[in-house]
Amino acid sequence: MRWNTGGVNYCYLLSSQDKLNSWLIDPAESDEVIPNLTSSERQSIKAIVNTHHHYDHSDGNMSMINELKQEGKRFVVKIVAGSKSSPDATELPEHLQHYKLGNLDITCIRTPCHTVDSICYHVKDPETNEQCIFTGDTLFIGGCGRFFEGNGVQMDEALNERIIHGVGEPNWNLTRVYPGHEYTKSNVKFIREYVYQELGENEALDNLEKYADKHEMTCGEFTIDDELKYNPFMRLDDPLVRKAVGDDDSSWKRSKVMETLRKLKNSM
Ligand SMILES: [Zn+2]
Repeated sequence: MRWNTGGVNYCYLLSSQDKLNSWLIDPAESDEVIPNLTSSERQSIKAIVNTHHHYDHSDGNMSMINELKQEGKRFVVKIVAGSKSSPDATELPEHLQHYKLGNLDITCIRTPCHTVDSICYHVKDPETNEQCIFTGDTLFIGGCGRFFEGNGVQMDEALNERIIHGVGEPNWNLTRVYPGHEYTKSNVKFIREYVYQELGENEALDNLEKYADKHEMTCGEFTIDDELKYNPFMRLDDPLVRKAVGDDDSSWKRSKVMETLRKLKNSM
């Protein structure tokens, strides 16, 4: 589900295979979310979950709970979030804390930088081995979030250690990315303008560009493995990424490359 009031936000309903257990992720605009859920979907919601505290992700927490109560939902719905800055958060998971949601296994990967309380949720269905990750405003398809409460060292650690290792190499090409916003087109434009300028220079980017040109929604279509192939924020040692930021002899620290890349993107 998506809306355009902020910057094309996504809200996700994550459900177990039997559809009896769900998490509702970032339902900031409850007025728009509620009519899009069937009564059995609403009944299945076990938790409202935030990827971080920004209003365009967490503002609907209390109104969602009230809506669900009005429908006579009997059991308590938790609010899982990274900090108490998310309205009415009841549960603040630790880094790498696990949850069971019906048949699904979920790992909370804390990724402080965009906000101190940013969390990515990696989900695995152990029966089908289907996997995905909800990345909020930390990782976008072809990009990453702004460093509002962190710096380049932290974003490098968030993307290139915590997410990468949290998901685990055997799962990179299985794990579909579901970000907090649809920013793929502008991310592709940035990469084309500054990093891989010619067609054929990066085949994965060529494919992403084609897809983004034809589709309004790109969430769930690309994996962590794809990101590692075209996302410059996850390719800090690539000579073409270094060249794009002005580090012609590849001598800069990774954090400086990260920060300069983000500044370039901010100026676009
Ligand atoms: Zn945000």
